Parts: sequence; structure tokens; C-alpha cells
Amino acid sequence: SITVTSVSKSFGSHPALNNVSLGIDDGMFFVVLGPSGCGKSTLLRAIAGLEPIDAGEILLDDVPVAHGTLHVSPEDRRVGVVFQSYALWPHMSVARNVAFPLETAGKRRPEVNERVAECLETVSLSQFAERRPAALSGGQRQRVALARCLAQGAETVLMDEPLANLDPHLRSTMEEELAAFHKASGATTLFITHDQREAMALADQVAVMWEGEILQVAKPDVLYQRPNSRRVAGFIGQSS
Ligand code: ATP
Ligand code: MG
Repeated sequence: SITVTSVSKSFGSHPALNNVSLGIDDGMFFVVLGPSGCGKSTLLRAIAGLEPIDAGEILLDDVPVAHGTLHVSPEDRRVGVVFQSYALWPHMSVARNVAFPLETAGKRRPEVNERVAECLETVSLSQFAERRPAALSGGQRQRVALARCLAQGAETVLMDEPLANLDPHLRSTMEEELAAFHKASGATTLFITHDQREAMALADQVAVMWEGEILQVAKPDVLYQRPNSRRVAGFIGQSS
């Protein structure tokens, strides 16, 4: 589970997160939806431990990882992260990029190979296993990052617009794969997007974010039927 309580974070005088609270139960697929610059990545980075917070508290599986002077390092939070800008090792093949976290975790070779093959299959990149990231398109790189996250099998997964660079066809295929993966793994998932259609398709719960604040948290159908403000209604109604 992920519990965020009254978290604030400013860059200079600009508040990126303003008193943000949310709770994500074990196994839930939770989507944060909001326009560019509203603070989505900052929220994800704060949960991952990549951004210190100014105030409030963050718990992972009921254990405090950030509050006051406490700041547990990203490695010790044991969450899988897919970044908005995929961070791949340029000198390693696609397969090794995916395998690397498993190798560091001390997994045995046959298990690693099998897992890597499965995850590359899931993102339709089996034929690129031996390429370097530099020889891939942006969307293909993003899928490598996604495969690496899936391969880790973390119980908590944070994804920052992992499908944003994909063409519409691949995007809907990947949405289905993600939903199936989530069902099979039961991972607690925080998924960030500015695409309301994607949010509605994937989410158990959606948090609508605006200028550093959470406006409403609800199931997709409730957001449609009972938005709590004009702003939410406008954002849910509009197709982006
Ligand atoms: P997008 O959909 O475009 O990715 P976002 O919702 O993820 O947007 P954030 O990246 O969280 O937005 O940024 C929130 C606000 O904080 C923005 O106004 C941004 O300019 C600012 N910001 C983010 N990171 C920094 C930083 N390291 N230094 C200064 N300002 C920052
Ligand atoms: Mg972002």
C-alpha cells in the first residue's frame, strides 16, 4: 500500500505539490490524471524517494519512508519505477538492460533468461534483444523500460506515462498487456497519465490533479457521473 498524507513540495517559490493526500490499497491500479505541469511526476518522484519533500508523510506498506528529517533512499524503498524519460544503460543490450536488476538481486542465470524473454515478449521486443538502446526508436526504448520494470516483479510499481510515446495501435495493445500483467501480478500500481481515456480504461481509482492539488479521487464511472467540480467535469469530459 501507498499512503501519502499532506505532502507539500516547492521548487523555489513555486508549489509543485500542495498538501497532497492519497491512499492506494494493496493490489490497486491507481491512476493520477492531470494536465502538463500539474505535479504528477513530482508526486511519483517523491514516492520513489527521488525528490525530498518539504512537509507531510509518505508510507510504503505502512512503513514511513519520508517525513520530517526521515528520507529513506530509493534503493531501500524497493519499488519498480518506469520514468517518463526512459533511463536505459547505453552500453548494454536491450536484454541486459532488462536483466540487470535481476542480476543485481542475485537471481540465477536460467531464471533471469526466462524472465527477460517473457517480459520482452510482453512488450513485443523479442527480436531486438541484442540491440543497444541507441538503435531503437523512442517508443521502443520506453517499452524496454517497461519490460525492465515488469521483470523486477516489484510489489509496488510506479509508472510515469509509460505509454506516452507509442503509436495508437501499440498503445492499446500495451494497455491490455498492462491490465493483464497487473491482474496476474497483483502489484500495487501508481500510473501517471495526462490522457483521460487511458485513465478511464485502466484505473480502479483515479485522482484528478490540478496545479499541485488533488481535486477528486474516485472510480472512473463516479468521476464521469458525479464530478465534484466544474474543473473535474471539464477535464474528464475533454478528450486529450
Ligand atoms: P508533465 O505532464 O508535463 O510531465 P507533470 O504533471 O509531471 O507534467 P511535474 O514534472 O511534476 O509536472 O512539474 C510540476 C511543476 O514543478 C512544474 O511547474 C515544473 O516546472 C516544476 N518543476 C518540476 N521539477 C522541477 C525542478 N527540478 N526544478 C524546478 N521546478 C521544477
Ligand atoms: Mg511528468
